[in-house]
This record gives sequence, structure tokens and C-alpha cells, in this order.
Amino acid sequence: MADQPALDEVVEFTSDLIRIDTTNRGGGDGQERPAAEYAAARLAEAGLEPTLLERTKGRTNVVARIEGTDPSADALLLHGHLDVVPAEARDWSVHPFSGEIRDGVVWGRGAVDMKNMDAMILAVVRGWAREGVRPRRDLVVAFTADEEASAEDGSGFLADEHPGLFEGCTEGVSESGAFTFHDGSGRELYPIAAGERGTAWLKLTAGGRAGHGSKANRENAVTRLAAAVARIGEHQWPLKLTPTVRASLTELAALHGIEADLDDVDALLGKLGPAAKLVESTVRNSANPTMLDAGYKVNVIPGEAVAYVDGRYLFGAEDEFRATLDRLTGPDVEWEFQHRSVALQAPLESPTYARMRAAVEEFAPEGHVVPYCLSGGTDAKQFSRLGITGYGFTPLKLPAGYDYQALFHGVDERVPVEALHFGVRVLDRFLRTA
Ligand SMILES: [Zn+2]
Repeated sequence: MADQPALDEVVEFTSDLIRIDTTNRGGGDGQERPAAEYAAARLAEAGLEPTLLERTKGRTNVVARIEGTDPSADALLLHGHLDVVPAEARDWSVHPFSGEIRDGVVWGRGAVDMKNMDAMILAVVRGWAREGVRPRRDLVVAFTADEEASAEDGSGFLADEHPGLFEGCTEGVSESGAFTFHDGSGRELYPIAAGERGTAWLKLTAGGRAGHGSKANRENAVTRLAAAVARIGEHQWPLKLTPTVRASLTELAALHGIEADLDDVDALLGKLGPAAKLVESTVRNSANPTMLDAGYKVNVIPGEAVAYVDGRYLFGAEDEFRATLDRLTGPDVEWEFQHRSVALQAPLESPTYARMRAAVEEFAPEGHVVPYCLSGGTDAKQFSRLGITGYGFTPLKLPAGYDYQALFHGVDERVPVEALHFGVRVLDRFLRTA
């Protein structure tokens, strides 16, 4: 059981980490080193020997291993990213990098994504050192840079250049799951992530014949691009249910006391109320046009026009995604991956999933654990290259009115102290049994 110092430390560490500005603006603009040094110092105080690793100066990652009691057991990876997305101070009620604790709530960028979990990991591991607890499996703790951009300086670099640090790891635990989701009818759901859609950020390029804007032109690059973008944006992707999404729909339907008619998923989603949000973005692939770039003067037809599309595909649906894009773009528009990463699927029958579920149920007996698939991606994608199956498990007990998912990358990101205490208790219990 997590002790009082662990409960105090998780709050202190969350606040301290928020005060260290680790904004990741993309394109290599970010500095995680001070936060990495902070985390490494807390681990070293607990008798561990953390390693600091950088591909790029200042973009620092931390890895440490806690030896388990059973050398024949597979190791477990516990990871959290240190960087955060930008925050505009003028939009916030408190300064986003103040880490202020007001009325029992810790405020600031990273309070839920995901310095809370970084602090929980540190608090649990230090509690174990005080108590002399050793886990059964080896536990590898990793704090990463650059998750909010390409991960090239973070988990991607660790997976490519330092696989030895993760020797024996078969499963990983990180963001984002096991938070309270209020389903609108008084029920508290605890969704645990067991899958992620793949990322396919696309660049579309239309070629054509450049010329004067007053002249007849049947090969206008802007017209060609706009038509392709409209076809992509309006495309109705077919339903595709992965094992996790299927289980999610079935369990949510059972909680609502309705039949899980998986032949008419859209109707089923309509009956699930707010809980439909947990599933609706993961029952199909998607491709949302997001950026356009063409031309420089109103009376000049440009020879080329470019658009960008945020595509996401389900586990097992990448070929279908590619074929559909070929068809939708047509012969006049080329498309390529600007960034691409894999889709993930984690088993729900595993002992690890059962232990995560049991740990939540012990401390939130009124709650209902359900599996779900993330519509986006996390560092788990990079670590999957090492054969590590990723789950999203960042336990937080949140009061009604707290929209966890809206706080992600949102204004006034904050986390109640009580939620952090719950998180430490649940994480501690899960890891002791893992
Ligand atoms: Zn995150």
C-alpha cells in the first residue's frame, strides 16, 4: 500500500515538473534536460542508477531498471514523456507553468499529459525503496523526450539506438487510460487503452499547367487539388472493428442494458450516450484535410498545389487505407506519407490486463473498467518495435464535471490532488502484482 510520503511526493513532483517548462514546439524546438535531471535525481535518491541519454543536446531521456525477484519473468516497461505541448499564458486562469496548487487542484501544462504519471511513477518507486519492496518482474522505468512531435529524439531514438536497456521487456504501460469517464447516467467508467490507430500524415501534390488567370485552363492544379481534398474529406470510411473496439462496444452495451448489435454500429453508438465518445473515432479509418498551400497571386494559375491530410488507420487496415487514398486522389494528384507510424493491438486476455483491471476495481469498486482503443498515438508505437505490447494505464479518479479528454492539450489543464493520490495507490497495487 502506498504510504503517506508517496501521496505527498506525487503532488510535489507533479507541481515541480510542471514548473520546468518542457514545451515541445516541434521541428526540434524543445528542452527536456532539466526535467530529465530532476527525474534522474529522484530515482538516484531511491538507490537506482538512472542513465541519461540524448540524440540531440538538451533532448534528454532517462532510463533505469529495478531488478525483480524472479529472473525468469519477462520485464515490464513503465514509461512517461517529459515534454508538453505549448500553452498561451493569456488564455489561462493561472500561469500554465506555475504548478500552482489551488483548492486541492494542481494547475498547469502537463497536469494530465503527462507529468502526473511521471510523478506517480517516481512516487511509487521511491515508496518501494523506503519499504524494501522488490517487484516480481524486472521493471524498466523510462522518461522520454519528444513524444509530442516525432519521437525521433525520444522513444524512437531509445528503441533504435539503445534496445539493450529494454532487454526482456514484453509489455509496456503508459498514457492514457484508467481515468474516470462519467458516462452521463451516473456511471463511472475506467477505460484502459489496449490499442492505437496508426498515424498517416499525408502530403498531397497536384500538378498542372501554370498560366494566366484569364485564360482557359483544363489542367488547373488548384482545381485538381481541391477536388481530391473534397473527395477525401467527404469519404465515408467503412466500419472496421478491431478486437479491442469490438470488446469495448460489447461491454458498453452490456452496461447500458442494450443489445450489442455489431451489424449496426452507428445505431448502437447512438444509444450509448456520452460513452459513444470512447469508441466513435475508432470504428473506422479516417482522413481529415488540415492544411492547404497553393498560389501567390489572384491572376496567376500556379503549376502546383499542395495539401496535407491527417490520416489514421486501424490495426490491420493499412493496405485498405493506402488503396482508398490512391482511388480518392485520382490520377492528377500524388500522395505520400509525411509521417507514418504503426497501429497497435494489445490482448485483453492477458494477466497484465486482468491485474490493471483488478487494481482499479479495488480502489474504485463503484467503477466499471472497459477496454478502448486510442484514436491517436503514443510512445508505445516506438517501443512496439522492440516487441513490447503497450497498454494505456494512467489511473486517476476524477469528480463529475471533469472532462479528462478535453484537458489534454487544453486550456486550464489541471488535476485534483485526490486524483493523484488515487493514481499512486492504483499504480502501486498494479505494479506489486504485475
Ligand atoms: Zn501525452
